[in-house]
Amino acid sequence: MELILLGPPGAGKGTQSKLLETRYGVAQISTGDMLRAEVKAGTPIGLEAKSIMDAGKLVSDDILIRMIGERIKRPDCAKGFILDGFPRTVPQAEALDKLLHEQAVDLDAVIELKVDEAILVERISGRFSCAKCGAGYHDTFKQPKVKGVCDVCGSTAFTRRPDDKAETVHARLEAYNAQTAPILPYYNARKRLFTVDGMAEMDEVEAQIEEVLRGLGVAAA
Ligand code: AMP
Repeated sequence: MELILLGPPGAGKGTQSKLLETRYGVAQISTGDMLRAEVKAGTPIGLEAKSIMDAGKLVSDDILIRMIGERIKRPDCAKGFILDGFPRTVPQAEALDKLLHEQAVDLDAVIELKVDEAILVERISGRFSCAKCGAGYHDTFKQPKVKGVCDVCGSTAFTRRPDDKAETVHARLEAYNAQTAPILPYYNARKRLFTVDGMAEMDEVEAQIEEVLRGLGVAAA
């Protein structure tokens, strides 16, 4: 299974792609997570990317295309992958087509999570996660069951992404509208684009994605 989840920041791509990873045993690939790991490790890519990410802008196509080209060849992608956060520009989409063609792999679907932009700032700026295991929480929608203690691993340390600040979220939305939204007609013209309602509850969004996969004959039994 080869899928792309597309949508503005905060649309739920990370949540839904992790659910699909568990359900289908395919690799979930988040280019944002990959870049954050490079920043943390202080690699040359990380050093270049950090200020761009902190400003809510897009890192260069060259870097991203190289990173994805290497990533999708790893053994954990043998059964397929779900891309979360890539492609984000038309040149990235074109490069992905070439990479998939080289590997004789066909893209099953691009699933757009459609959301109302007005709610995104609240959704994103309230996010935080466990510093140890990465479990995700939200100030308004999902506090840990015991305040200050991670439900999953019991850690008491939490972090917030520096680019989840309200002012940076506006820049990220601008980047999405200007550079990423033009991918939608690109995939629509190739009959790969499916749209689901990203405003619905999490399990309803999951059900809608399952419905798309059933229609394509790639859903789990
Ligand atoms: P995300 O975690 O997907 O919201 O990505 C966080 C940040 O990483 C973005 O705001 C960009 O600065 C950078 N980034 C992630 N994926 C890409 C991509 N495909 N192209 C360019 N920049 C990216």
